[in-house]
Amino acid sequence: MEIFNYFKAQTIEEAYKKLNENPSNLIIGGGAWLRLSSKVVETAIDLIQIGLSQIVETESSFEIGASVTLREVEKNESLANLYSSIVNNGVHGIMGVALRNLVTVGGSIFGKYSFSDLITPLLAMNTEVEMYKGGRMPLEDFLKLRTREKDILLKIIIQKEEGLGYYYKMKKTGLDFAVINVAVTKLNSKFKIVVGARPSLATFAVKAMEYVNNQSKITPEVIEETAKIAVEELKFGTNSKASEEYRTELAQVYIRRGLKEVTNNEN
Ligand SMILES: Cc1cc2nc3c(=O)[nH]c(=O)nc-3n(C[C@H](O)[C@H](O)[C@H](O)COP(=O)(O)OP(=O)(O)OC[C@H]3O[C@@H](n4cnc5c(N)ncnc54)[C@H](O)[C@@H]3O)c2cc1C
Repeated sequence: MEIFNYFKAQTIEEAYKKLNENPSNLIIGGGAWLRLSSKVVETAIDLIQIGLSQIVETESSFEIGASVTLREVEKNESLANLYSSIVNNGVHGIMGVALRNLVTVGGSIFGKYSFSDLITPLLAMNTEVEMYKGGRMPLEDFLKLRTREKDILLKIIIQKEEGLGYYYKMKKTGLDFAVINVAVTKLNSKFKIVVGARPSLATFAVKAMEYVNNQSKITPEVIEETAKIAVEELKFGTNSKASEEYRTELAQVYIRRGLKEVTNNEN
C-alpha cells in the first residue's frame, strides 16, 4: 500500500468532504488490513479526533464508535453482560493483543470480512449500523448492500438484551482465521443461528430458525433436526483452509452444541 497524504479530520463533515474529493481517498481505521493491500491512496483520512472512540451505554443500548479498538470491546465488562459475552469472546479470539489494540470496530464492520469474529456474534444479537449519509440500518441490511458507497461508518448500536449466547470459532492454530464460526442466541424463547467463514460472509440460517422457533419443546431430536436444516440451507465452500464437506460437518456440530448450550443454560 502506498499513501501520499495523511489527513486528520476535525469534524465528520470535513472527513466526508475529503473522502469524496478523490476516488482513491479513503478512511483509515487501525490500518492493519489496508496495510496488506496493494492500494495506492491519495489521502488517508483519520477519524481519531472526531469523537468516535467511545463505548456509550444508554438505558437501552450500547453505542460503539467506529474508532473504538477491538481490545476495548473485548475488555468492556458491561458488554459482557449481553448474550453470555459472545461479542467479547468473539473478539478475544482474534490474533494477539497487539493487533486488537490497533484494529477498529469501523474497519472491522465496513470491511465486511467473511472470516469476521465480530460480525458473526453481532448478527446473532440485535445490532444496527449508523452511517454518516446512509443513516441507521440493521447490520443484516448493511451487510447486504452491494454498492460500496463513499460513506463513513460512525458507530454500531447493540440493544441491551440479556439473552443467552454461544459463539465458537473453529481455527487450526491459535492465531489463525476461522475455518468456520457459529453464533447461537436465545431471547424470549426465540433462537437466532448465524454461521460465518463458510468461507463467505456470515448469514442467518433462516429456515432452521423458523423450524426451531415453531417448536413447543426443545428436545434432542429438535436440536438435531435444526442443525440438519441449517446445513442444508446454507452454502459452504472450499478454500485453502478447509473443504466444503468439512465445513458442513463442523457447522452441524457447532450449531448443535450452541443450541444445547443456550437451551440448557436457561434452566
Ligand atoms: C494479520 C491479521 C489477522 C487477522 N485475523 C483476524 C481474525 O482471525 N478474525 C477477525 O475477525 N479479524 C481478523 N483480522 C481483521 C481485523 O480484526 C480487522 O477487522 C481489520 O484489520 C480491519 O480493521 P482496521 O481497523 O485495521 O481497518 P483498516 O485496515 O484501517 O480499514 C479496513 C477498511 O475499512 C475502511 N474503513 C475503516 N474505518 C472506516 C469507517 N469508520 N467508515 C468507513 N470505512 C472505514 C477502510 O477504508 C478500509 O477499506 C485480522 C487482521 C490482520 C491484519
